[in-house]
Amino acid sequence: MSHQEIAPPPRLLMGPGPISADPRVLRAMAAPLVGQFDPFMTTTMNEVMGLYRTVFDTANEQTFLVDGTSRAGIEAALVSLVEPGDRVLVPVFGRFGHLLAEIAGRCGAEVHTIEVPWGQVFAPEAIEDAVRAVRPKVLACVQGDTSTTMCQPLAEIGAICREHDVLLYCDATASLGGNEFRTDAWGIDIATAGLQKCLGGPSGSAPITISPRAVEMIGARRHVEAGLREIPGGEDVDAARGRVIASNYFDLAMVMDYWGPRRLNHHTEATSMLYAARESARLLVTEGVDTAVARHERHGRAMLDGVRGLGLGVFGDVAHKMSNVVAVEIPEALGAAGGDAVRGSLLDDFGIEIGTSFGPLHGKVWRIGTMGFNARKDAVLTTLAALEQVLRAHGVAVPPGGGVAAAQEVYA
Ligand SMILES: *Cc1c(COP(=O)(O)O)cnc(C)c1O
Repeated sequence: MSHQEIAPPPRLLMGPGPISADPRVLRAMAAPLVGQFDPFMTTTMNEVMGLYRTVFDTANEQTFLVDGTSRAGIEAALVSLVEPGDRVLVPVFGRFGHLLAEIAGRCGAEVHTIEVPWGQVFAPEAIEDAVRAVRPKVLACVQGDTSTTMCQPLAEIGAICREHDVLLYCDATASLGGNEFRTDAWGIDIATAGLQKCLGGPSGSAPITISPRAVEMIGARRHVEAGLREIPGGEDVDAARGRVIASNYFDLAMVMDYWGPRRLNHHTEATSMLYAARESARLLVTEGVDTAVARHERHGRAMLDGVRGLGLGVFGDVAHKMSNVVAVEIPEALGAAGGDAVRGSLLDDFGIEIGTSFGPLHGKVWRIGTMGFNARKDAVLTTLAALEQVLRAHGVAVPPGGGVAAAQEVYA
């Protein structure tokens, strides 16, 4: 049996991520490899650190990449911050909040969650009340949860955490680059992301930034580990051993030593992903992060008005929606299997992918993204035009041209 060269079908990825990568990012990935300690490699790693400081809006020295998808960044942050028995508070407003709680639990945390119904965000007072009641070491919060499209305001949460001496971790995977994000001004201790949303790259690299006080805390665990090698057996050793970071790959102390001036060998940096992450950030920084956020707002608004122009409802508290994704209510006329049938026709007939949904929203909404390279007028208009045709073909009465016209008004 012989295999052909890989030839993916042309697709316009308009779901909640992954999105179609910017061709310049794909080209960067095809650049030749260099050795681990080649001067070009170390220069490129330093450039990447600088670029992501701008992307995260931070002065944090410790700003680099964790190799792996966004989840690798989440795990690295939590396994390095959380010691067994620590209290971790997770405000859950969608699927990824549950993921943070699950990972914190695996780190041995005593996990406390507070919840709002899907489609809403937390008022800062609700988070402060929970912080007072739980007195956590770490507050772990998603900024933008693609499962509900909501974007949790964070500006006041950091101040609450400082006041109560709580470390603030934030998963900004879905939102970074398309919504305002200020690591330092908002007092965020660790933030992580991925490339496949607003950064316009493929999945497989997790940018991370770490505040000096979080670095110090992680460093203290490292000293415990060093001490372990010196103390002979006994109960104290077992207690201390519980404090050692329970992962080698995701031990941020080791990863920091690898990216830092000492360049202590750890993993083999994923060179092609390093190039991708560099190009994603370079494009964003060249455009201007604030300009990119404004671009996501404009095209997100056009998509929002466009789906409404087709007579479709939009799920959730739209005032707190991420700019780069919208949850569109599946018309009841389509019946139980109709939502998937529409997505199937969009893919088969137009090569356009939109997203399904999870948990309480399964079968109720589609999720349509306008992010990264696809936060573009032609991508928005083409998607709306195709959706109109497919809905009509599936028996839904939609206003002719209503979606494109409403979007064009935003662009006018
Ligand atoms: C998309 C998304 C992820 C994705 O994680 P991967 O490991 O890259 O699949 C994580 N967190 C949030 C909030 C997301 O929206």
